[in-house]
Amino acid sequence: CKNGSEGDCETGKKSNDEKSKYSEDFEFSASNKKWDKYSRKIETAVADYTDCVQDDCSCHSSVIDNDLEVWEKDGITQQMLDTAKSRGTHYQIINHKLYREDDCMFPARCKGVEHFILEIIKKLPDMEFILNPRDWPQSPKFQSPMPIFSFSKVRKQSWDIMYPAWTFWEGGPAVWPIYPTGLGRWDEQREIIPKAAKKWPWDEKYNKGYFRGSRTSAERDPLILLSRKEPELVDAQYTKNQAWKSKEDTLGWDPAKEVPLVDHCDHKYLFNFRGVAASFRFKHLFLCDSVVFHVGEEWLEFFYPAMKPWVHYIPVKQDLSDVKELLLFAQQNDDVVHDIAKRGRQFIWDHLRMEDISCYWLKLLKQYAKLLTYKVTRNKSYKQIKG
Ligand code: UDP
Repeated sequence: CKNGSEGDCETGKKSNDEKSKYSEDFEFSASNKKWDKYSRKIETAVADYTDCVQDDCSCHSSVIDNDLEVWEKDGITQQMLDTAKSRGTHYQIINHKLYREDDCMFPARCKGVEHFILEIIKKLPDMEFILNPRDWPQSPKFQSPMPIFSFSKVRKQSWDIMYPAWTFWEGGPAVWPIYPTGLGRWDEQREIIPKAAKKWPWDEKYNKGYFRGSRTSAERDPLILLSRKEPELVDAQYTKNQAWKSKEDTLGWDPAKEVPLVDHCDHKYLFNFRGVAASFRFKHLFLCDSVVFHVGEEWLEFFYPAMKPWVHYIPVKQDLSDVKELLLFAQQNDDVVHDIAKRGRQFIWDHLRMEDISCYWLKLLKQYAKLLTYKVTRNKSYKQIKG
């Protein structure tokens, strides 16, 4: 690095000479006891994992079973549904037509959801349900279960029934100036991000952690602070969001410039954190062919349970106490973490297609409808939603 001819010291990019030295380092590290605990976790996780069938979204169907289990025995009564009404938007499906109460707190989110329901409406029986379009789940386990559909929830702490978020089609989050109307349709992102990733083959990516996002949760702070202290290990900076008022909201520093997800692909280790609820970035990061460092395991979307730590991503403790060690492990065990990146990418590619989203909605709504113990009657004040 001294004469500038062997790669870029500042960025961590490696030249070919460095790469061969790097494989020697890898062989050395493979025999290095220090990393045995992680190597064993990976070996065990991979040995225990069986990939699921691609055709029928069956990878995710146990999530539906789990979410609905509490109503399996006695069903969902009209009274239960009425109790849930104040927590979300009331939808009815009658004679293959979709109706909705006028009020939806986030109209674009409701539209993003309605897109998927209208696609399958001909296959759906009569039913009604309450859809929570907000981020935060609404049916905590310390209360009686309320049947409410939410996009995200806390493992073991919420009764909410998870649905595929609006964002697969539309409804945000909007991030100025890079995504003024939202992250963009998932089917389009599935094309756009891999194209960008092609420009950054694994060996040319920076050997560093990377994160850009706003301070939607202070759980992100330790990574930002580590980046300020050890910028050669990780580049993590806070950007503004709509609630930004002063540097206080970006941990005392000026906000960083927003960087679109396609421009995350030049780094090997991409961080995902919960924000207000689960962050939509998770699925996108895999498409960069980088390895995802997933912080905490509490917050879920419907497709998270099918993805396994060490098989598809590197799990990081919620308090980030192991993050530095994990970054060093990744830097010194390049082939092993590259394999995790490949498996994570393959999973998202094979099992989070638009067909899988539609398939999940169909299974979810059909299974849910069977639990209703009463005949649904149409509320005549509701308008039909036609898309
Ligand atoms: N985002 C991005 N680049 C940025 C800032 C944000 O791509 O510079 C994306 C991010 O990946 C996420 C969304 O914008 O999908 C919102 O990010 P933020 O950190 O504000 O909130 P989160 O939803 O992650 O809690």
